[in-house]
Amino acid sequence: MEEKMEYDLEKAKSQERDYLMENYSRLPVLFSHGHGTRLWDDTGKEYVDFVSGLGACVAGHCHAEIIAAVARQVSQLIHVTNLYYTRPQGELAEMLCRYTFADRVFFCNSGTEANEAAIKLVRKYMRQVRGEDRYKVVSALKSFHGRTYGALAATGQPDKAEPFCPMPSGFTHVPFNDLAALEEAVDDTTCAVLLEPIQGEGGVYVGETSYLKGAREICSEKGTLLVLDEVQTGMGRTGALFAHEHYGVTPDVMTVAKGLAGGLPIGAVLANAEVARGFVPGDHGSTFGGNPVVCAAALAVLMVLHEEKLMENATRVGGYFKDRLLSLQRNTGAIREVRGMGLMLAAELEEKMAKDVVLCCLERGYVVNNIGEDILRFLPPLSISTREVDGLLEVLDELLAASRQGGA
Ligand code: PLP
Repeated sequence: MEEKMEYDLEKAKSQERDYLMENYSRLPVLFSHGHGTRLWDDTGKEYVDFVSGLGACVAGHCHAEIIAAVARQVSQLIHVTNLYYTRPQGELAEMLCRYTFADRVFFCNSGTEANEAAIKLVRKYMRQVRGEDRYKVVSALKSFHGRTYGALAATGQPDKAEPFCPMPSGFTHVPFNDLAALEEAVDDTTCAVLLEPIQGEGGVYVGETSYLKGAREICSEKGTLLVLDEVQTGMGRTGALFAHEHYGVTPDVMTVAKGLAGGLPIGAVLANAEVARGFVPGDHGSTFGGNPVVCAAALAVLMVLHEEKLMENATRVGGYFKDRLLSLQRNTGAIREVRGMGLMLAAELEEKMAKDVVLCCLERGYVVNNIGEDILRFLPPLSISTREVDGLLEVLDELLAASRQGGA
């Protein structure tokens, strides 16, 4: 009989040390299973998850409907590539077009790939209709669009790109929420403006309505495309299926990933019919993109979002969460600013102690995320409850009050 192998945090750390590339700095926890808003580690300790796989597990961990959809599809057909038709891909594309401004969809495997494909699409389309000089992409400082060359060149964080220079040419960055700077940057060499409605990785900076509406107007007036990166803001996170709905702004192209398949790897580019003409057979592709298993999962996610009213919950609990963070700010004086919308929230701290707070929370059974040294970010499953928010706030209150008294 095969002996059961011991596997614990120490074993995981030793494998990382010996066999994995050193591009991640992980927190000291080995998660073994999850359910709903909860995670468990290898010792059986339970946690409330306020990160949800960086915003991916919108319907919570291991949702029964998603498991059933994946199990059904896995036992029927796992993979054939895009040389052939498969039903879940077609059905998911139809659903996405029904729920959004889009007329056509391209599927890939991540947010980065979606942005990479979107950049290729807008360049190709504009080259066709306006000529080859119209190839530049204007995006925002502090934006994040991914780490492959096109997506990284669009990302407005020079420190992330610098070690990998030279970057592809044709990318310009302007300050976010500064309409005059955007207007000045867009000229007759610009093929697209690429923006996150709320900047996620950059620190959770909410786009102002006048900015996003103004960006739309500038693009329309100057004959440039508006691409919205809804990789983090999409799939109900802000209380609407896609954040641009709050703004009354319709993009020409949108990229989606993270929550789309509830934690399985997927990405998608959604475009209106005109811009979608940019791609013809052979222009772009992906072996796994639109894979039947992930598309079946995504169809289940869309169903669960609606049936369980998770977007309504994101609005209600997100509003409550933000109010509680604002009172924490008043009570402790340890928070510089509270930002965000729905269940995409951040608290910028007065002191550079976000990493310590994350570690202390983990010890106390709460999974939260930090951006840099002074920002705490919260991206829980959309099913999180006010009681779970209260539990986290109690811990944060204790930690931040102690820090203001010179403790922590
Ligand atoms: N775009 C945005 C707005 C993101 O937040 C992210 C990831 O955090 C990406 C793109 C990259 O997505 P992925 O990590 O799936 O490649």
